[in-house]
Amino acid sequence: MKRAVYPGSFDPMTYGHLDIINRASEIFDVLIVSVLNNNQKTPLFSVEERVKILREATRHLSNVKVDSFSGLLTNYAAENDLHVAVRGLRAITDFEYELQLAQTNRLLSGGKLDTVFLTTSLEYAYLSSSSVKEIASFGGDISKAVPDFVAEQIFEKYRSR
Ligand code: ADP
Repeated sequence: MKRAVYPGSFDPMTYGHLDIINRASEIFDVLIVSVLNNNQKTPLFSVEERVKILREATRHLSNVKVDSFSGLLTNYAAENDLHVAVRGLRAITDFEYELQLAQTNRLLSGGKLDTVFLTTSLEYAYLSSSSVKEIASFGGDISKAVPDFVAEQIFEKYRSR
């Protein structure tokens, strides 16, 4: 059984993330999408809210599971017997950071955790969670970036601030 983990902040999940999830779920037998609980960032959505959004958006994919973790990805991967991490590459700007992350994870795991990169579908290459939040905070149109039920929750967050 080929199992992989797709770790990330997913704050919030966008169509770019969903595209990677859809494609990775065809490559691997089981894909675990895992939300990183990062204390150093102030997120718009709690980890529980992000997990709920991802579960709803991936309901149609029977081999996709959604989870969360804190701390090092390498520890989480070792505890769950996961040896492949999936990450998305949008542009050259992602490359340097992702390369460093992948090499660090390989080293920290003693060679047990490798990273597989999927390049973004071109229509989502411009998309990032932070740009979605910025546009939404000014009441802009995010309908091409996230599913409707996610857009509603984002606008609700900004309304209640
Ligand atoms: P991070 O985990 O770096 O805090 P994200 O949660 O935004 O950031 O992203 C998780 C992963 O998904 C990263 O590998 C990132 O490059 C990738 N990703 C983000 N947006 C897109 C997109 N529009 N298309 C493809 N991959 C993406």
